[in-house]
Amino acid sequence: MNIIMERSNKTRSERAQLGRKKRNRLIIAVNLVLLGAITTTVILTYNMKQDKSGAELPKLAAVHSKEPQKVDAGVKKTNDGGPSDQKKSPNTVKPVGTEDSKQNQTNSGKTPNSGNNKAVISGENNKPQVLNADSNQKTKVVYLTFDDGPNEYTEQILNILKENEIHATFFMIGTQLRDNQSSIERLLKEGHYAGLHSMSHNYNKLYKNGGSSHFIDEFKQEQALLYKLTGFKATLIRAPYGSAPQIGYNFRTDIAHAGFKMWDWTVDSQDWSYTGKPDKVVQQVKRQIHRKQEIILMHEKKQTVQALPRIIAYLKQKGYSFAVYKPDHHIVANFGKDTRL
Ligand SMILES: [Zn+2]
Repeated sequence: MNIIMERSNKTRSERAQLGRKKRNRLIIAVNLVLLGAITTTVILTYNMKQDKSGAELPKLAAVHSKEPQKVDAGVKKTNDGGPSDQKKSPNTVKPVGTEDSKQNQTNSGKTPNSGNNKAVISGENNKPQVLNADSNQKTKVVYLTFDDGPNEYTEQILNILKENEIHATFFMIGTQLRDNQSSIERLLKEGHYAGLHSMSHNYNKLYKNGGSSHFIDEFKQEQALLYKLTGFKATLIRAPYGSAPQIGYNFRTDIAHAGFKMWDWTVDSQDWSYTGKPDKVVQQVKRQIHRKQEIILMHEKKQTVQALPRIIAYLKQKGYSFAVYKPDHHIVANFGKDTRL
């Protein structure tokens, strides 16, 4: 009985031992699982961090790769004619024929405000030569420009320029080229630049058809006609009524792609509006002259012919030298500050 009791006791204690062993194994197993879980967590966390930083890299790379676009976007912003350009730019509604119905399509129709439009550009972009970008420039340079010819005044303007031994830049209207071919030939022969000013000079035709296509077509047509008549291939254009605000960034892209350069001006003589008042034209110019480089907008008008000798004398007195547009020394001078043009 005792033996049985002992046995059963033994068995009980053995069982208890077995139970303890099992429990220990279980604890070890649990610990191992826990350890495994912790390790896995650590590894996973590490991997996730790695993934995260890995994911950030392409993002950064993407940002970097977008930088040139950012620069473009910045250019675009300033190029759309900043608010000042917009506000002060020529009023595009006024132009057609308010002063002189015969001049419907030939006067540039600058409003008195347009004189505030300045094609002055900061020197941030040092690639293209930009008007008034060099503040250390010692010499003062002025570009006289004459729009809306050739016509009956062209020869007189050429005479005055010749007397003064200076050169000027002309922006001519395509429909007037054929009738004034000899004047254009003289103009080119005497060292002036024959620039383009569209075929029609018609605001609605050039700007109101929802894009640049008609504008570009007219300038290409005029370029071809001038070339046919004189053998001279002009690349510099002046947009009728100025480039702001009617010519935006995409429009300018198309102009650049068509191979043209585009000039606006820094001084608006408003000569077209001063019929019979050459003194006023002189006054306007004097009032606005103060930069190292000036581009003066004038038109082939009677009052301009009358004012021109005094304007030239004033500029000489102020120490300006007179320059003519040179394609191989192009200067960026547009209201949009667009260095592509
Ligand atoms: Zn014009």
